[in-house]
Amino acid sequence: MSAITTFEEFNLNRQLLNAVSDLGFQQPTEIQQKSIPIILGGQELIGIAQTGTGKTAAYLLPVLMKIKYAQGTEPRAVILAPTKELTIQLAEHAKLLSKYTDIRIQAIYGGIGPKTQIENIQQGVDILISTPGRFTEIYQKGELPVKQVKILVLDEADRMMDMGFMPQLRKIFEVLPRKRQNLLFSATFPEKVEKLSAEFLEFPIKVEVTPQATAAKQVEQELYHVPNIKTKINFIEYLLKNKEDFNRVMIFTRSKENADNVFNFIERKHLGPVRVIHSNKGQNSRINAVNEFKEGKLRVLVSTDVTARGIDVVKVSHVINFDVPILYEDYVHRIGRTGRAFQDGKALTFVNRAEEYHIEKIEKLIREKIPEKSIPEEVVIEKTSFEEKQAIAKDIDDRKRRDDPTFKGAFHEKKASNKKVEKKADKKKEYSKADAKRNAFNSKNKAKADKRSGRKAADDKKYKGKTR
Ligand code: ADP
Ligand code: MG
Repeated sequence: MSAITTFEEFNLNRQLLNAVSDLGFQQPTEIQQKSIPIILGGQELIGIAQTGTGKTAAYLLPVLMKIKYAQGTEPRAVILAPTKELTIQLAEHAKLLSKYTDIRIQAIYGGIGPKTQIENIQQGVDILISTPGRFTEIYQKGELPVKQVKILVLDEADRMMDMGFMPQLRKIFEVLPRKRQNLLFSATFPEKVEKLSAEFLEFPIKVEVTPQATAAKQVEQELYHVPNIKTKINFIEYLLKNKEDFNRVMIFTRSKENADNVFNFIERKHLGPVRVIHSNKGQNSRINAVNEFKEGKLRVLVSTDVTARGIDVVKVSHVINFDVPILYEDYVHRIGRTGRAFQDGKALTFVNRAEEYHIEKIEKLIREKIPEKSIPEEVVIEKTSFEEKQAIAKDIDDRKRRDDPTFKGAFHEKKASNKKVEKKADKKKEYSKADAKRNAFNSKNKAKADKRSGRKAADDKKYKGKTR
């Protein structure tokens, strides 16, 4: 089969082709070229391609083609995505592509009462786009007919199958008709997730445009060693003073607290317009912030990893990682908010000493070294506060101990050398030596056991440790 280079060559109807042309898509992207014929052919698919390469249309077009027109009242295709912002965006995309058809598309998500959404479902839906939570909630109320579902898409599939969502997903699989076509898409798809997907996929075809976790090639990455939060803030101020280049910026932080702090600072310094998104923000506030950012009303959007995945905003000039994400895959997704649809973009990552450890892991994941740059001279380097120093030292120790359970660590040694505690500690030491041995032994065994059961202890910790 010769390579497909135009949309006309797919087996799509005129209505869809006209919509594609209205969107200004001239050529199918590689993931679209490879996936569309397979999905039209009825096969299950795992689609892996870099961020911003049109994975959405790669499944929406063939799904719309198969759904064809409005029929009955019950949904025939379900698309699941991890956040409400993404379900809304996917529905918008689907509506644009189906505008010359009568296909009914409905997004449902949490944060607001289910009443209106239930009424909408009752009026008839062909393609339902949902978060797992809201899907389950409405299903349990007996208000979600699922018998007609023939296609299931998991967008951001690896995120959907992580420990936060998988139990819920399994329940959804149970209620959906067994005979259905499953389609999984993401830019990252670790091996252990692929193994997990064997639970419900039947002979899937894997389309891998680039190996999983390849960073988008249009994104120029830069790494800066920044010793502490205060200096990170100074650096942000310095960068945002350059209004011409830094015209549409997403800043990611690991914690809600940092997101709020960065947001407050930017607002106080009049470097916005700026808004902030995290899981404690109300439904309206979150959706409005994304909309305003998409409409170009905001210069800066500060956010935790809730918006790291899927959100498609054109011409984001820069992504700034105020800190390093705990889930390493999220690095790929964060920086992938820029450099979308053939545009260029820049991603700057700030790391303190404790975070260097994570950067090494991220570099391993993306199979490239992030070029290091030095902080411009104009940025004032602040002294690290006592608390932050302690936190950084503790963090480094914790990591090392995780890698080597017998590791004692500089941070804890220092504590123990404090004279006053020493006496009391002496007695304890005997116990704690034995404890340490036992712990080391246990954790070694646990690691073995975990390995055997296919789950690594580190993953539990990783999951527990994440705040979004
Ligand atoms: P991904 O899911 O791979 O990260 P998206 O599906 O969100 O990427 O698409 C990224 C952007 O590219 C969107 O704005 C989309 O409209 C645009 N796009 C998709 N397909 C094409 C195409 N064939 N030509 C041009 N732009 C496209
Ligand atoms: Mg996507």
